[in-house]
Parts: sequence; structure tokens; C-alpha cells
Amino acid sequence: MSDHPIFNDEHRAIRKTIRDFVLKELTPYADEWEEAQDFPSSVFHRMGELGFLGLHHPEEYGGQGGDYLSGVILAEEMMRCLSGGVALGVGVQTDMVCPLLHKVGSESIKERFLKPALQGEKIGCLGITEPDAGSDVASIRTTNQRDGDEFVINGQKIFITNGVRADFAILVTREQGSSGTSGITLFVVEKDTPGYSVSRKLDKVGMLSSDTAELAFMDCRVPAENMLGEEGQGFYHIMWELQPERLFGAISAVAGAQISMDMTLKYVSERTQFGRPIGKFQAIRHRLAELATEIEAARQLNYYVAGLINAGEFPAMEISMAKLFATRMACKMSDESLQFYGGYGYMMEYPIQRFWRDSRLTRIGGGTDEIMLEIISRQLVQ
Ligand SMILES: Cc1cc2nc3c(=O)[nH]c(=O)nc-3n(C[C@H](O)[C@H](O)[C@H](O)COP(=O)(O)OP(=O)(O)OC[C@H]3O[C@@H](n4cnc5c(N)ncnc54)[C@H](O)[C@@H]3O)c2cc1C
Repeated sequence: MSDHPIFNDEHRAIRKTIRDFVLKELTPYADEWEEAQDFPSSVFHRMGELGFLGLHHPEEYGGQGGDYLSGVILAEEMMRCLSGGVALGVGVQTDMVCPLLHKVGSESIKERFLKPALQGEKIGCLGITEPDAGSDVASIRTTNQRDGDEFVINGQKIFITNGVRADFAILVTREQGSSGTSGITLFVVEKDTPGYSVSRKLDKVGMLSSDTAELAFMDCRVPAENMLGEEGQGFYHIMWELQPERLFGAISAVAGAQISMDMTLKYVSERTQFGRPIGKFQAIRHRLAELATEIEAARQLNYYVAGLINAGEFPAMEISMAKLFATRMACKMSDESLQFYGGYGYMMEYPIQRFWRDSRLTRIGGGTDEIMLEIISRQLVQ
């Protein structure tokens, strides 16, 4: 994971700094945060202070001015905290909210939201999904209606990561009366705006320490200057945003799978049955060899795609392939790991069960397997 030709010495130094931070300041608290189903927002502040939230953002907005690959390193190293929820919460800020603010935000938006987000002073969330609109983003119903210099927003969002703690939400809305992909516009809405409420914190199967919210907006008045990107172009802005989000999912999936593999290799060499370590049984060795091969294949595809993104390309088909392959592989790896741990794998005191629960989300969030297959097949079969 740590040494590959796409990374240079500067990347290696960044990796070491992040890894030291994660192992010292996050991993020791993972169990506590999972139990509490929350991690402190001070993690954002601390990571902002250390410059980790803006690794690949320009220095003029408080970023570190690095390349996209430094963000890949952050996504990988965050998985060492052994809580997918922490990695996801931070990832929403670094790989979903901030890239969108930077790509399509006005100077005013960048000053008021991107800069403090990169510093960890403001936490953001991204509200696309609604109770009746998930995979079909174009069917969202949250409306915006212009009223002078303001827009009035009404609607509901569901499954929003960081939604409970967020200081602001990027909302996908549509002009009242519009339908389909046209008429969709993004807005940055601050939490203290009258009419903005967190209606529910949702209970999940995994990613326990990340907060997931249902949000409601009732006659929420937002100044026109909070429009993010071009009016009516929100669908296309979101389709762009989903590309780095999907690769982030793929990168995190492989990093998690590698950690499951490392833990499992140690376990099978220590656990003895029938007079020898279970890792000596060929049935187990060969399955581990197959899984190691799949991890490596997923990693190579991810790095290939990351290299393209680093060069400014966002190839939707290859990104979808990387997400599909890596997240399926990660689910398989965590399931097999649990199997190799036997009954201990099913116990909450062993972290392997957390990878099993956390990895399941990666085949759903940011676009399901079926949607990835749809994107790939659209380019493949004319
Ligand atoms: C823990 C968690 C965190 C999340 N965080 C966020 C967030 O921060 N922001 C946000 O906006 N959203 C978030 N989501 C929502 C996530 O992106 C959606 O759950 C996902 O896009 C799927 O939408 P859906 O759940 O409505 O499922 P649906 O779209 O209803 O899909 C149900 C099933 O039908 C399948 N299906 C749908 N359409 C087709 C098709 N055309 N062909 C074949 N099969 C199809 C799907 O693949 C799936 O298997 C989060 C979800 C979870 C669980």
C-alpha cells in the first residue's frame, strides 16, 4: 500500500505524518467512539490545524497546495483508525463537500465556506438523497423558489452523513415546477437558518461513529449569493462531485480490506486447531492467496484511476469500475476474515466484525453496485 511508483518522496513523507497522527490521536479512541456512536468534532479542528483537510486544495484558500494523490494517501491512512465511521465523516468533508465548493463555488462561497471547512472550523454535509429519490437523483423534490434576493427552500433529505453535526449543508434542490435533470440548483444552507432542522439521527448497521441524519427544510430563506455553481446546472455539478466521491469509496475499501487481511494473517498464524496454526491448512492458505490477489488487483485499478484524476481527467466508466470492484472485494474480504476468526470474529470485542459491518455501506453509498453497472454498461453496450 505504502510504496507504489505513483507516489514520490513527498507523498511518502505525507503518509508517515498522517499515519503517526492517526495511530496516536484516532486509533486509541475508536472503540470508545463506536460505542458512543459519535466522534468529537474536535477531530475536524485538529486535522484542519495539521493541514490534513486541505491537502490537495490551493494555498490561497488555506489548503496545502498538494496534488490529488496526497488526498488518496489521507483516505488510505484514515482507515488505520479502525473506525470506518470516522474515516467516512472526515471523507465527506475532504472528498465531497470541499471539492464541490472549490470546483463551482463563487469567491464569496470560497471565503465563507471553503476556507473555514479546510481549517476544520466549519463542518459540511452534502444533501442529495431524499426519502423518494436515491439512485434516481433527477427525481429529487426539494424545491427552491426565488423571492427577490432570496430563495425559499422546502423539502427533506435522508441518510446525510455529518448531518447532525454539520454547520452547513450543500443542498440539491429544484426550481418549483421543474422536472428531470433541468431546473436543479445547489445551495449552501447554514444550520442556523430558520426552518432548517435535523429531524432525526438515524440508527445504522455499521459506520457507527459517523452521524447520519434526516434533515427538514421549511420555508428556509437563503440569500441568492449562497447559490453554489450555476442556476439550473446542479444535476451536472453533482454528477461531477460523485466521481471523486466514488474513487474515495474505492480507495477506502481497499485500505480497509488490506487491514482486514493483515489482521487475519496474524490471527491464522496464532490460532491453533488440530495441533497446528490454522494458517497451515491449505484450504485457508489458498483462500487468503486468492483474496490477496484481489486486493492487489483492486488497488492497481484504483491507482490507475487516481493517476487519471491527478492529471485532470474524470473518466466515469473507469471510476465506476474501480468502485464496483473494490467495494465488492472489500465486502468479500471482511466476510472471509470473519470466517477465519471463527466465533471470535462474531464477537464485538474483535475489530474484524466492524470491517464486516462498515464495508457493507460502500456498495450502497455514493451510487450502488447496480448503478455502477449501469454506468459501465452504458459506455460498453451501444
Ligand atoms: C450510511 C449512509 C450514509 C449516506 N450518506 C449520504 C450523504 O452524505 N449524502 C447523500 O445525499 N446520500 C447519502 N447516502 C445515501 C446513498 O447515496 C443512497 O442510499 C444510495 O444512493 C441508494 O439510494 P437508495 O437508498 O434510495 O436506494 P434506491 O435508489 O431506492 O435503490 C434500491 C435498490 O434498487 C436498485 N436500483 C435502483 N435503480 C436501479 C436501476 N436503474 N437498475 C437496477 N437497480 C436499481 C439499487 O441498486 C438498490 O439495490 C447515504 C446512505 C447511507 C446508508
